[in-house]
Amino acid sequence: MAQPPSTSVVLIGGGLGGALLATYLGRAGYQVDLYERRPDPSAGNFVGGRSINLAISTRGIHALQQVGLADEVMQSAIPMRGRVIHTPDGHLHFQPYDKDPARCINSIGRAALNSVTITAARKFPNVRVHFNHRCTDCDLDRPAAHLINTETNQTVEAAGQLLIGVDGAFSAVRRSMQRLDRFNYRQDYLEHGYKELTIPPDAAGASAMERNALHIWPRKSFMMIALPNPDGSFTCTLFLQFDGPTSFANLRTDDEVRRFFDQQFPDAVSLMPTLLEDFRTNPTGSMVTVRCNPWQLGGKVALVGDAAHAVVPFYGQGANASFEDCFILDECLTQFAPDYSRALEAYESRRKPNADALADLALTNFVEMRDKIGTPAFRRHKKIERTLHTWLPNWYTPLYTLVSFTRTPYAEAVQRARHQDRIVRRVFEFLAVLVILLIFAIFVRPIECH
Ligand SMILES: Cc1cc2nc3c(=O)[nH]c(=O)nc-3n(C[C@H](O)[C@H](O)[C@H](O)COP(=O)(O)OP(=O)(O)OC[C@H]3O[C@@H](n4cnc5c(N)ncnc54)[C@H](O)[C@@H]3O)c2cc1C
Repeated sequence: MAQPPSTSVVLIGGGLGGALLATYLGRAGYQVDLYERRPDPSAGNFVGGRSINLAISTRGIHALQQVGLADEVMQSAIPMRGRVIHTPDGHLHFQPYDKDPARCINSIGRAALNSVTITAARKFPNVRVHFNHRCTDCDLDRPAAHLINTETNQTVEAAGQLLIGVDGAFSAVRRSMQRLDRFNYRQDYLEHGYKELTIPPDAAGASAMERNALHIWPRKSFMMIALPNPDGSFTCTLFLQFDGPTSFANLRTDDEVRRFFDQQFPDAVSLMPTLLEDFRTNPTGSMVTVRCNPWQLGGKVALVGDAAHAVVPFYGQGANASFEDCFILDECLTQFAPDYSRALEAYESRRKPNADALADLALTNFVEMRDKIGTPAFRRHKKIERTLHTWLPNWYTPLYTLVSFTRTPYAEAVQRARHQDRIVRRVFEFLAVLVILLIFAIFVRPIECH
């Protein structure tokens, strides 16, 4: 239901979550002022040093669908039906994501996605987007944000009935909340950093590798992945420790980089003509898990997306979770407004346990992707999961399917997967005992008494 025009919301951050939230709030009739520190994406590059493409799946698509944006976004998305594993000796193994080939994750350009949502938000006359405005601090009681117009250097104050921080992992709104008594905050950096590299299209303009897949080069303590782009290129991301024997710190010269890639990724290196230049020029990013609470204060201030719960990128769910936050927050506002205290509390209690579950899932999946995924044991495990899901679809659903292809809350998905796996383990243990007894019965004859 549309809100009275007097309900004003200040949003800080116009990235993936902020732009979608502005669209939801604009549709509901709120007076929205969105402040984004970067320039207008329609006037140039909006991507900065962050990942160029990302994987969107069921949760993200559903949140986009609710405001009529899914079809437009999916037009430029490339479906990825499974993983192609590149072994060190150059062999390729394809692992489908699901028994149903229609269930896939989708590679989409970050800038394209952001520009669809920003454009949609701006279509509402009650949404105003202010680019080149960096939030420096917040007055949480009023609530109001203090900003700097980075083009004019002037300070600006933005006050509203609600102040929502959708300003990413290093949120300025959260920083203001951290000064409060009993605000809990924890950040954990990975020992690994990441660097983006490119595989361009081949001479005929076609993709140099299988296009409808996510490519992974698992190498135990590190790995490289590649996601396809609409122009036939792939964006590769190398995840490697910052320090140590095999690390970014030991890849200082072109020779060191070339040798490392020749040894570790021989099939990829021949497809990467700009490897050395990309390696030198592109920044090395860090990855952080952020856990904090509360996510809201007195019905006036809230955190959404990475600002509330940054996760490492290995489940491909950060943006999906940020979009799902927008959908749930919209539901809570629709249910409880104008009681914003209740609305924001309901939002936090529905999302926080799920964000915590996702943070753990994402960390665990890094070990799985870089270390286990290439092993025969892992392939066997996936085959058993697929078989059980095919035979007993109502009873057994693999965790990856629950997370990526359903909207089952993350915490519930984890619980359900644990329960299923416990039962499967017991059945296998029972079968193993049965086989041993059978062998015993067949081959060990009873001692005959004469
Ligand atoms: C390498 C990598 C790969 C990833 N891959 C995937 C994937 O495949 N699938 C997936 O779902 N997720 C992925 N993610 C995670 C995803 O990028 C984030 O979860 C998502 O961008 C979060 O959206 P957000 O709007 O909360 O934050 P952001 O997208 O970071 O947006 C925050 C916005 O706030 C602005 N801002 C920041 N500070 C201020 C300030 N002080 N004042 C004003 N504006 C400010 C920023 O400029 C930015 O536009 C990946 C992340 C990384 C690093």
